[in-house]
Amino acid sequence: MNHEQYMTQAIDLAYENVIKDGGPFAAIVVKDEVIVGQGVNLVTKNNDPTAHAEVMAIRDACKNLGTFQLDQCILYTSCEPCPMCLGAIYWARPKAVYYAMNKHEAAQIGFDDAFIYEEIAQVKEKRKIPFIHIKTDDKRPFVGWKNKEDKIEY
Ligand SMILES: [Zn+2]
Repeated sequence: MNHEQYMTQAIDLAYENVIKDGGPFAAIVVKDEVIVGQGVNLVTKNNDPTAHAEVMAIRDACKNLGTFQLDQCILYTSCEPCPMCLGAIYWARPKAVYYAMNKHEAAQIGFDDAFIYEEIAQVKEKRKIPFIHIKTDDKRPFVGWKNKEDKIEY
């Protein structure tokens, strides 16, 4: 299949998800021309604000491949990723991302993530959700990690 055909498959899944009980988003992960994972938006069904299609597809692909990195994979998502999914994609490290509908089109049907992008650029003190730094000298988790000899780095 070519890029457009994989995308059509993602759009089919997204549309099916609207007919069922999820948001209008879906994503698939392809490795060596084989679909190794897929996901749809299940935020309201699962009561999980992080259950976006891209995150669900990344989790599915990683589980199926037995890895925490998707560096040989391509992610096809029916819509341009939000900031959370953008971060998840960078952690998963696929070699490319293809998207269909864009964030402006998503905003027109009520999925406006522009405010999150604005919040990222905002100084912490001016963010809508307060982020308060508690200073501590208790660095056990970081010291423990630094000194751990059998750690799996990612
Ligand atoms: Zn997202």
